[in-house]
Amino acid sequence: MSDSLLSVSEARERLLAHFAPLGPEAISLSEAAGRVLAEDITSTLDLPPFANSAMDGYAVRAADVQSARPDQPVALPVVADIAAGGPLPEPLPPGSAARIMTGAPLPASADAVVPIELTNDRRPPANHAGTSPLTDDRQPQPSAVNGPPSVVGIMRPVQAGDHVRLAGEDLHAGELALPAGVLIRAQEIGMLAALGRPYVQVIRRPTVAVLSSGDELVEVDELLTPGKIRDVNGRTLAALIARYGAQVIHLGIARDTIREVTARLDRAANSGADLIISSAGVSVGAFDYVKTAVETHGRLEFWRVNMRPGKPVAFGHYRAVPFLGLPGNPVSALVSFEVFARPALLRMGGRGPLEKPAVRARLLEPLASDGRESYLRAVVEREEEGYTARPAGGQGSAILSALVRANALVIVPAGVTSLAAGEVVTAWMLDWPEWVL
Ligand code: AMP
Ligand code: MG
Repeated sequence: MSDSLLSVSEARERLLAHFAPLGPEAISLSEAAGRVLAEDITSTLDLPPFANSAMDGYAVRAADVQSARPDQPVALPVVADIAAGGPLPEPLPPGSAARIMTGAPLPASADAVVPIELTNDRRPPANHAGTSPLTDDRQPQPSAVNGPPSVVGIMRPVQAGDHVRLAGEDLHAGELALPAGVLIRAQEIGMLAALGRPYVQVIRRPTVAVLSSGDELVEVDELLTPGKIRDVNGRTLAALIARYGAQVIHLGIARDTIREVTARLDRAANSGADLIISSAGVSVGAFDYVKTAVETHGRLEFWRVNMRPGKPVAFGHYRAVPFLGLPGNPVSALVSFEVFARPALLRMGGRGPLEKPAVRARLLEPLASDGRESYLRAVVEREEEGYTARPAGGQGSAILSALVRANALVIVPAGVTSLAAGEVVTAWMLDWPEWVL
């Protein structure tokens, strides 16, 4: 237990010391987007696996066509017609050409491809026949002109290697294709597909149990009777947890009794959750049983953090599970989640960077603070000369409407009590993806 006032960054560091990336799990490639790779992927094959053509054209030996000119074409007999996906072709005899499609295997001893535009072949190949307009009965049109000519005129020379994709030029067998720790985006999915990996090891998603507490709370679909309010935090925190790649276990609302709070925390501890997050019930009120329950069955540390909103942050373990107690007021709960829970979830998920995406923004209105590091709800807009920021409305820690309007949290540093219009501040962008640099 520490009684000194911690800076936000000290408190965050202390909290993060309790979290590390989780272990791996195998998932199917179709579910891997957005996950973090937990294994090095070494290529077991050459990419591409065989030399192939980068163009529709004619495979040749470059030496055979060095004298080719538009007015003096080199005529070569066409000895093969090679489609993509067909069997490996015979080697190309000297002084001949083979019609070849993009992606089709290059015959041995051919070393270049002459694009069809640089030949006298003006006939569409068979697989282009379908580009003719469809008739009413939608039958494919027979094409009389889809075979290659018996002799092709080459009108320009090519150099060895031109328009050829060599086996392994993208990636060689044995080379590292993707290192553990990368975020799997569409292009990593593509690489894994190319390498024949229908399953892949990724870092397991954290599971977070969410508990609301208070006799005044009712569920979103319950009747509001006098003295009651609906549970805002349960849903808000669940949405944030999902946003940062974790899974939610809903513990619902605990009434203000030690028995009920303990029962729900026990459910959380037995659920395999990696983290329990509660809101409310950890201040010094007479009915703050969450605090009592965690102290009884685990260990609770209170950190007084030099921060507004969200002064006290409760962190500890309930039984053996990390526990984070957030303030009850919805704005405080959201802000302190962004400050403390977000980096913990990203770290468990193997994600980085842990810093919230931020911009420097020029204030359109003056701001006042009380000297604590303040996170003020703001609207940030992009203007020609940079970003601007203005308050999103009432800054009270229960004012949802300003939170809804806000797209940013403007940070007033500790020790600063007023900022004039025109001053430049750091603004956390609430809606930006996590990997914005
Ligand atoms: P407490 O920490 O229990 O004193 O709660 C502080 C304030 O937050 C009180 O006004 C509560 O009614 C309010 N509050 C607590 N939990 C929630 C919740 N889940 N949704 C909305 N408001 C809440
Ligand atoms: Mg309460």
